[in-house]
Amino acid sequence: MKLNLDFTGRHVLVTGAASGIGRVTANAFAAAGAESLWLVDLDEAGLAAAAAEIGPRAQTFAADVSQVASHQALAARVAEAGTPLDALFLNAGIFYPTPLADAPEAGYDKLFAVNVKGLFFGLQALLPHVRDGASVVLCSSVAAQYVLPGYSVYSATKAAVNAYARQWAHELAPRRIRVNSLSPGPIETPIFAKLGLPQEQLDGFMGSLGQMVLLGRVGRSEEVAAAVLFLCSDLASYITGIDLPVDGGYLAF
Ligand code: NAD
Repeated sequence: MKLNLDFTGRHVLVTGAASGIGRVTANAFAAAGAESLWLVDLDEAGLAAAAAEIGPRAQTFAADVSQVASHQALAARVAEAGTPLDALFLNAGIFYPTPLADAPEAGYDKLFAVNVKGLFFGLQALLPHVRDGASVVLCSSVAAQYVLPGYSVYSATKAAVNAYARQWAHELAPRRIRVNSLSPGPIETPIFAKLGLPQEQLDGFMGSLGQMVLLGRVGRSEEVAAAVLFLCSDLASYITGIDLPVDGGYLAF
């Protein structure tokens, strides 16, 4: 049995590719030989920097994943390229607290629009351009199962992501397209700085997250990327409809 994570000749799409987990994962696909990479994000400067790291195999598409029209435009570009997708990592997401007592409606709607609706209409638009036998990985979170006080809406969006993976695994099985979700534990990325906390409070928050993990530390994006590549590779050819925690033992705590 040949055990490798070779993506030579494969065409890959990553959303949320301008930063954090998505950017590192796009780089990992490139290092594993992917022939072309679509990098999708609304952060144009970050996208340009991510594409520069990869070189000419990377194509950028600036889009807000909460907008259905963005996905249709992206699908048209992928169709034009004429190379159906072999692996999709639908990873773009946002994270902030929504206390039950006073969280505003707009914050609620945005979390669901980006983290949930964006996945549905993204995959719907791209499906005609996905190769039979391809692999789709949805980025969920341990928050789907574990209580993070004050983050109930984020948690609910990620529970929806887990449900999508199981449902779509069924719907797409006739085309042998595998669909799985992956749940990172706390991973050191720019997502936490976006909370706007003072540095001292942010350090305290990250430290407390690290202590909630069996391995005693927050994780690195590279550790998530390795699991994404595994799920998208031929090594995972008999895995569909699961949620894979990549959490240093957070859920086992
Ligand atoms: P990040 O903020 O570094 O990266 C997220 C990327 O998504 C950014 O480049 C951002 O511009 C993009 N994005 C946000 N909204 C978008 C939109 N509407 N349209 C297009 N792109 C958009 O964060 P990250 O930590 O790398 O998070 C990636 C995924 O991992 C998210 O789905 C997040 O919920 C999930 N996750 C992260 C952690 C963690 O600890 N970092 C833990 C569990 C799950």
